Amino acid sequence: MRYSVWQLVKQGLRGHTGWPRMWRDPQPKSSYDVVIVGGGGHGLATAYYLAREHGIRNVAVLEKGWIGGGNVGRNTTIIRSNYLLGANLHFYEYAMKLWEGLERELNFNTMVSQRGVLNLFHSDAQRDAYARRGNAMRLAGVDAELLDVDGVRALVPMLDLDNARFPVLGGLLQPRGGTVRHDAVAWGYARAADALGVDIIQNCEVTGIRRDQGRVTGVDTTRGFMATPRVAAAVAGHTSRVADMAGLRLPVESHVLQAFVTEGVKPLLDTVMTFGAGHFYVSQSDKGGLVFGGDLDGYNSYAQRGNLPAMEDVMAGGMAVLPVMGRLRVLRQWGGVVDMTMDGSPIITCTDVPGFYLNGGWCYGGFKATPASGWCFAHTIARDEPHPLSAAFTIDRFHEGRLLDEKGVGPNPWIQ
Ligand SMILES: Cc1cc2nc3c(=O)[nH]c(=O)nc-3n(C[C@H](O)[C@H](O)[C@H](O)COP(=O)(O)OP(=O)(O)OC[C@H]3O[C@@H](n4cnc5c(N)ncnc54)[C@H](O)[C@@H]3O)c2cc1C
Repeated sequence: MRYSVWQLVKQGLRGHTGWPRMWRDPQPKSSYDVVIVGGGGHGLATAYYLAREHGIRNVAVLEKGWIGGGNVGRNTTIIRSNYLLGANLHFYEYAMKLWEGLERELNFNTMVSQRGVLNLFHSDAQRDAYARRGNAMRLAGVDAELLDVDGVRALVPMLDLDNARFPVLGGLLQPRGGTVRHDAVAWGYARAADALGVDIIQNCEVTGIRRDQGRVTGVDTTRGFMATPRVAAAVAGHTSRVADMAGLRLPVESHVLQAFVTEGVKPLLDTVMTFGAGHFYVSQSDKGGLVFGGDLDGYNSYAQRGNLPAMEDVMAGGMAVLPVMGRLRVLRQWGGVVDMTMDGSPIITCTDVPGFYLNGGWCYGGFKATPASGWCFAHTIARDEPHPLSAAFTIDRFHEGRLLDEKGVGPNPWIQ
């Protein structure tokens, strides 16, 4: 069914009894041309672009839980392309362009909201670093504005600019950055991929990857064996576990990242804002709750919870810059398992195992990449070679020492 305002009126008059399922619930087939492991944003976007751009439709997306249950539905919904290094900048800007047309493309309301992303700075040195970043963005044709403290005050009147422990000196604004309704992205891609013939199979965990003379021949799953010459993993926090099934050991660590939502209040923040003297980012959802997060929990874990020290650190960051938060009650908190690489940049790659492709290492920031990641990964699988936009993200960079260390902090995944 094509969604439209007329359809809404028609279904409304019928008491909303006529809406069909958004995607089928097919029985797994015995073989597929491509099996994608992981029904998160990246796996589903890959399936969609494989079918739409490359005509490969005999595809299964295998999800061990439910669609939207992974990090795609757990993140703080921020999208931006305010990067410094060329490879990251061009890739994330391509993602931004795809976000800008996504709702029309998928015929689905993913609530793309370009309300701006503002990075605060609190020292002269930090101003210089942000000015450099903004200049790199503008040279690449990406929007960026350096605001002084009055510019910041006008944009976010609720901020504590003067009396805070870390006075705000200004901010780098990307006006086209913003938020997207996270799980709607999974649903939108799932629905569109299904309409092109992709089988989306939930409650189906991949437990092994079979190989014959090194080449991939299929996957063992909790719903039986499926033969396929191409297995593409997009499993976020479980990247190293699934790669291990193909005999690969990766420079990736899994850590928990938490997020928080407060009770709903009247509009007080109409941009995404990040604190520059600690790790804290916040936006206000359309329902009125403040959605915010900060740093990783400082140890490896696969638990989708989170610990109290990280929580306290996030709250302290928020209170330092937006003290009004102290009056709000936190309604919900959760965690997601993120796959941290040693340079903080992602991996989209063919591998040494013929027929095994890998998409992972998204760290904190893979949600904003979702459309471009799917676009480039589909190309990689279909053509057996990297897409020019993701050529810097292949796994060889760790062998060759050409790391993409956006933050310049070295091989320390917990601070990337
Ligand atoms: C709290 C939090 C906040 C974040 N905030 C942001 C943000 O504001 N902006 C941003 O850009 N990014 C953010 N991120 C990062 C972003 O959410 C992730 O990088 C991105 O969602 C990962 O890709 P995905 O959507 O494909 O992952 P997921 O949705 O996790 O998909 C992977 C899927 O693989 C499945 N799977 C795993 N193993 C198997 C198996 N063996 N068989 C079958 N299925 C399997 C999992 O069940 C999961 O559903 C945040 C992450 C977290 C946790």
